[in-house]
Amino acid sequence: MPGPYELSREEMAGLLAHEPSYRVRQVWDGLHTRVLQPAEMTELPVALRTHLEEVLAPSLTEADRREGDEGETIKWRFDLHDGARIETVLMHYPDRSTVCVSTQAGCAMDCQFCATGQAGFTRQLTTGEIVEQVAEAMRAARPRRLSRVVFMGMGEPLANYDRVWGAIVRLHGDMGLSARHLTLSTVGLVPGIRRLAGEDLPVNLAVSLHAANDELRDRLLPINRRYPLTVLAEACQGYVQASGRRLSFEWALIAGVNDRASDAAELAAYARPLGAHINLIPLNPTPGYGVLGTPPEGVRRFRRMLTDLGANATVRVTRGSDIDAACGQLATAAPKPQSVRLSSRMHRSNELR
Ligand code: SF4
Repeated sequence: MPGPYELSREEMAGLLAHEPSYRVRQVWDGLHTRVLQPAEMTELPVALRTHLEEVLAPSLTEADRREGDEGETIKWRFDLHDGARIETVLMHYPDRSTVCVSTQAGCAMDCQFCATGQAGFTRQLTTGEIVEQVAEAMRAARPRRLSRVVFMGMGEPLANYDRVWGAIVRLHGDMGLSARHLTLSTVGLVPGIRRLAGEDLPVNLAVSLHAANDELRDRLLPINRRYPLTVLAEACQGYVQASGRRLSFEWALIAGVNDRASDAAELAAYARPLGAHINLIPLNPTPGYGVLGTPPEGVRRFRRMLTDLGANATVRVTRGSDIDAACGQLATAAPKPQSVRLSSRMHRSNELR
């Protein structure tokens, strides 16, 4: 059975072919605008509601739900129909609510200190499974309005381009979310960034950079061996020019690895010509992780170095570390046997500006 968000509008019309034509709009708007379950669509005849409950049953089954930050952060673990497992994190802030969604079950990018990468790749998520995570978070956020989506959960979004873009179109066109409030995160899949530059929705692009010299980045993020920093910079420049959006670089601070004065100098020199904003991420504790995050004073010092060098940098507030929902921690509750290599998530479930 398709999940509630798996069908296109045309397919929904096919499903409701024997109903009056206005039912298609009712059900579509019920799912996307009002974010209702079929059982809650009381304007529908009972028989139709019952039928839809069956054929549009949720794709996501809640396996675990934890609250942290005094209820301001919620992390779900969802089981999918085939046993694959993903995680989704909702974060409330005084002025907004944001959900961090997964785009793949697992990930094949093998970044050196990512808990998701350690667990390997299971499969691509469908557009419907991605949209349904947002719908779940919207329902849970009530009465607050969820207005932002960050594609920074499990997986590399640009490695699942068509389905992720399908979700973006749906979130924007049918669920009313502004493209300005949608952020795609990538470790630097250059063909995907180039393709993004040709799209007509200017979403935010966040690149998980973490190293600004090829030798270190090759080690931390193997994708860099295919698309080294100069190639990545060209693709980012192309995206900034095409979209008019500001680029951001994510930088998880690791003591003695990428928090030295030379790292700040390389990062500032890389970010400045692109006008990129730098998000510094204090690293979260992760099982199997062989090195330490930079202590708070070191984080502040690194930021000062960057700003003194003319780069634009802020330190991200860590959310959800008490429930393994923070940067570097998705999937850490069910790791494969401990590895001696670094392990932490380089995409984050923390908030962007
Ligand atoms: S950091 Fe992102 S791209 Fe890299 S392994 Fe983890 S989930 Fe995949």
